[in-house]
Amino acid sequence: MSEKIGIMGGTFDPIHYGHLLAAEECRRRLALDWVVFVPTGTPPHKKNRLVTPPEDRYAMTLLATAGVREFSVSRAEIDRNRPSHTVDTLREFLGEGQLFFITGLDALLGIDAWKDYLLLPNLCTLVTATRPGYSLAGLDAIPSAIRGSLEVVEIPQFAISSTEIRARAREGRGIRFLVPHLVENYIEYHGLYKNLEVPRT
Ligand code: NAP
Repeated sequence: MSEKIGIMGGTFDPIHYGHLLAAEECRRRLALDWVVFVPTGTPPHKKNRLVTPPEDRYAMTLLATAGVREFSVSRAEIDRNRPSHTVDTLREFLGEGQLFFITGLDALLGIDAWKDYLLLPNLCTLVTATRPGYSLAGLDAIPSAIRGSLEVVEIPQFAISSTEIRARAREGRGIRFLVPHLVENYIEYHGLYKNLEVPRT
């Protein structure tokens, strides 16, 4: 029987326990065999702030998932030397099993601007993992073809955000127990998130 594979897409700047918990909850609830984390390359749609270089985000994702048998990390989007689109990533995984693309609700609400988004339900089941308190009202606005194939998984303990972690790191407020210990060390050692998030022009 074909394996069920979760594709966990995100910027992961940085990856935190909320992402790990969301991946694990989705794995259990949807009976997935594996979850592959796919950090984005340099996302063209993120023009409003500096994004940490892909290799750093990839390294932190590796450190966070090391030793978890059902989790792995893919370089598919990092190694793509052109703007990275989910449809292309899913095509790379076609044939490996039944695909479930997992991402955050805010990202999903903009799906109608993604390349070939109407093809996505043919390639995968779309899954969105939400934090408590996130309104699902916006889902009414997404195209019905997408809504019809969407699984919403609310993760009760998923109240951590990368934005909050970057702010804490910048202000020296400490990020211990929000990210895995090796990720905390990596951020400190490389001095990530020390600067203000200057808008890109
Ligand atoms: P993002 O900044 O990584 O995430 C947007 C929101 O969702 C944030 O609140 C984030 O929380 C949360 N989140 C991110 N990944 C999550 C996950 N796997 N599970 C649960 N919550 C998650 O969003 P993004 O950079 O726009 O990208 C998200 C995914 O959508 C990526 O795989 C990206 O390639 C895809 N995408 C594709 C296209 C396209 O094909 N044209 C366009 C845009 C996005 P944190 O801030 O705490 O991480």
